[in-house]
Amino acid sequence: MLSQFPRVILAHLPTPLEHAPRLSEALGGPQIYIKRDDCTGLATGGNKTRKLEFVMADALENKADVVITQGAVQSNHARQTAAAACKLGMACEMIFEHRVTDADDAYLNSGNVFLDRMYGATIHEVEKGTDMDAAMETRADELRAEGKTPYIISGGASNKIGALGYIDCALETMTQADEQEVDIGHIVHATGSGGTQAGLMVGLQTSGSDIGLLGIGVASPYEEQIDKVWRVAEPTAEYVGSPGCVRREDIKVNTDYTGEGYGLSTPEMEEAVLMLARLEGILFDPVYSGKGLAGMIDLVRKGYFDQSENIVFLHTGGSAGLFGYSSILSL
Ligand SMILES: *Cc1c(COP(=O)(O)O)cnc(C)c1O
Repeated sequence: MLSQFPRVILAHLPTPLEHAPRLSEALGGPQIYIKRDDCTGLATGGNKTRKLEFVMADALENKADVVITQGAVQSNHARQTAAAACKLGMACEMIFEHRVTDADDAYLNSGNVFLDRMYGATIHEVEKGTDMDAAMETRADELRAEGKTPYIISGGASNKIGALGYIDCALETMTQADEQEVDIGHIVHATGSGGTQAGLMVGLQTSGSDIGLLGIGVASPYEEQIDKVWRVAEPTAEYVGSPGCVRREDIKVNTDYTGEGYGLSTPEMEEAVLMLARLEGILFDPVYSGKGLAGMIDLVRKGYFDQSENIVFLHTGGSAGLFGYSSILSL
């Protein structure tokens, strides 16, 4: 299904599907497996690398010499985009929204931003609430006036092209589960701009899988989060030639673990991040994967999943952000 689409190789695939025996035992519920998309390789890895394999290929087809993208200052997506641009010989510009108020020096200069600077990305900063898509268009016009060929990558690379990467991940995970003779009941992951969940959903649906898919929200209220996934899932299904294979009412999202908002700490996130570090030696991030994990842990404790099922937590990466957010973990 995916071979018809242009793709560049950026990721180390397949990423491991690993059993987490000590976490499973500590929670006393279902067996938990971790799909290690934090190990995609590029610039310390993460979920955007799979999406960028298709998006950057499209940029190349469009003869782009500079890519423009946007996000929060500690955007993992921007970091992976900057690295991909270097690897493919393109310039990279990013527009950062000051989404976190009272940001400290680490937030503004360490973690992902430090790496963006290493990759030589041009950084533009704008106030919270700016129309980010309009800001990217304006910058693209300026670059065109300078004779460049810019290519705009939507926030989180969440569009029908980027989502192809997560169709691929769904297929890869099902193959690995077969090989390991693991019958997956649910896949759980952090959901933000929605492309990961959209791609997974289309991948599972088109394969006729009955695996449950649950996104744990990290930013938006419930209805808005469903919309974000739907706005990518619907065109993605059509793009791969299966229009209508997904329905809005089948999108499962839980936004109970966002806390006060995007990038703001919660006690459950802190517990989850430290738990995985100390039980399994795996690093999660405070903004995305840590909140997703907090949701999964709480749902296991509440008996949301069947005791006998196997759960795959899709680790979407983000540990580079730990350095930018070091002050929010009370160690
Ligand atoms: C972007 C991101 C997500 C969310 O993925 P979406 O496709 O934007 O929903 C989850 N975890 C990490 C670490 C991310 O960087």
